Amino acid sequence: TRLPRTAQLHAESLYFRYPAAETPVLDRVTLTLEPGQRLAISGRSGSGKSTFADLLAGLRRPDSGELLFGGCRVDQLPPDARRARIAYLTQRSDLFAASIADNLRIASSAADRDELWQALHCVDLADWATRLPDGLDTWIGEAGHRISGGQGRRLALARLLLRDPWLVILDEPFAGLDRATINTIGERLDGWLQQRSCIVFCHDTRGVPGLDRVMQLAAGRLHENRP
Ligand code: ATP
Ligand code: MG
Repeated sequence: TRLPRTAQLHAESLYFRYPAAETPVLDRVTLTLEPGQRLAISGRSGSGKSTFADLLAGLRRPDSGELLFGGCRVDQLPPDARRARIAYLTQRSDLFAASIADNLRIASSAADRDELWQALHCVDLADWATRLPDGLDTWIGEAGHRISGGQGRRLALARLLLRDPWLVILDEPFAGLDRATINTIGERLDGWLQQRSCIVFCHDTRGVPGLDRVMQLAAGRLHENRP
């Protein structure tokens, strides 16, 4: 499947319920995101943000309704095409026991050292990595160098920056980070986000640069925040 270079995301009346649950997480959720738009979706803990993010990334299938990206059903895109076009930062950082470089390169094996350092700079980890005796080759994860939750979060984000997706889905990208770090990363992220569509799920929209829209997820429904 070939997608057009500029792709609109369109969700039409999505309904999703976990099999064991009585009430749906998403109920008649409709959303259109034009190419290049930047949207934040907030909502209380448990309101369904991560579930919605999974659906948008094609990792879960709605029970009913349609989710189209560039006119193609997201859950029917070949996995390779989907991963090339849609970058998804899950709420869990998903790092593995390997070097920093290998953790970064997992989805972009061709990235060179300069690109790795640029990505680390963008998430404000370059100074930290420079001070490690083994630098980019430092082993992290099991029996490796201990990294903090916030550093892990930022490494997972840096990994996305090596890719060239059209749609970026970020689930709580700034969880556990201090305000100054959030502001630094927000500014540096702005350039990479240009020309891409982006949906950020977060409790607090401060720190997300250049937002076009903010929406709320509550009781299964998605509402536009009117300014
Ligand atoms: P948070 O802000 O805490 O990350 P969230 O808005 O991302 O919360 P979800 O993780 O999408 O919320 O969960 C929405 C609802 O679905 C919750 O009631 C949760 O208990 C339930 N839920 C989440 N994952 C599953 C699962 N794998 N199986 C069954 N129920 C689930
Ligand atoms: Mg969540």
